[in-house]
Amino acid sequence: MKKVLTIAGSDCSGGAGIQADLKTITAHRLYGMSVITALTAQNTTGVQAVQAIDADFVGAQLDAVFSDIIPDAVKIGMVANKEIIQMIARKMQQYKVRNIVLDPVMAATAGSKLLQKEATVILQNELMPLASIITPNIGEAAVLAGFTPTTTDEMEKAAKIIYEKVFAKRQDDCAVLVKGGHLTDSADDVLCDKNLTYIYNSRKIDNKNTHGTGCTLSSAIACNLAEGFNLQQSVKNAKKYVTMAMQTNLDLGSGAGPLNHMA
Ligand code: PLP
Repeated sequence: MKKVLTIAGSDCSGGAGIQADLKTITAHRLYGMSVITALTAQNTTGVQAVQAIDADFVGAQLDAVFSDIIPDAVKIGMVANKEIIQMIARKMQQYKVRNIVLDPVMAATAGSKLLQKEATVILQNELMPLASIITPNIGEAAVLAGFTPTTTDEMEKAAKIIYEKVFAKRQDDCAVLVKGGHLTDSADDVLCDKNLTYIYNSRKIDNKNTHGTGCTLSSAIACNLAEGFNLQQSVKNAKKYVTMAMQTNLDLGSGAGPLNHMA
C-alpha cells in the first residue's frame, strides 16, 4: 500500500486541513500520515483562533516519520510562519523528498489569515522550488503573479509567470496549477509546465459546502502521484474526486459546510 504524508494545520471542525487530507487519503485507500504545523479553532462559520506549533517540534515530527516510514508523496498545506517553512524546506532536502504537492494556503475562505504576510516570500523562494506541483487559487495566484486573473486566459498568463519565478532552474517535471473555483463564471483550472498548458474545463457547481476543497484537491493529487500517475493525469483524477465530493452536498453547520468524503 502506498503511503502519503500531509504537512498541514488542524481544522477541529473536520472540513479542511489535516482532517480533510487524511479523509482524502483514506478514501483513496492509501496509508495516511500527518505532521501538524498549527492548530486552528474553527467551525463552518470561520476561524476563531490559530496556534502555530513550534518549528523545532514540526522538525521532530518530520524526523520521526522520515526515519521510519518513507512516504510515496507529500502534501504541504498551511505552514503558518517563516520558521516552520524553513524547517520543512530543510527536512525536505535532508530526506530528498519527491512528489511534493504544495498548496500555498494563505487565508481561509472566510478571510482569516493562515500565513504571516512576511512569510509569503520565504514560501516562494525556499519551499515552492522543492515541489513537483504548486496549486494556488485565484487569490494566491494574484499574490504570486502580481495581478488578479479574472479569465481563463489570464489564469494561463499568471501560471506562466509563477512557473518562471518558482521553477525556472528545474529540469525535471514540475508544474503550476492555478485553480479557478473562485471565478464567477467558470471553474476552469489551468496547469502549466515547462512546455505546455492544459485547461481543465469545469462548470461551476452550485454548492456552498466548499470548505476544504483546496486541501482535498491537493491531497488527492498527492495520492495519484504516489500511485505513479504523471502530473497531468493526477490533476485530472483529483479534480474528478473533488467534483464527486462536492456533488454529494453534505450540509453541516450554519456557515459554508465541508466537503463530503463519504460518497
Ligand atoms: N488549512 C487549514 C488548517 C484551514 O483551516 C484552511 C481553511 O480554513 C485551509 C487549509 C484552506 O482550506 P481550503 O481547502 O478551503 O482552501
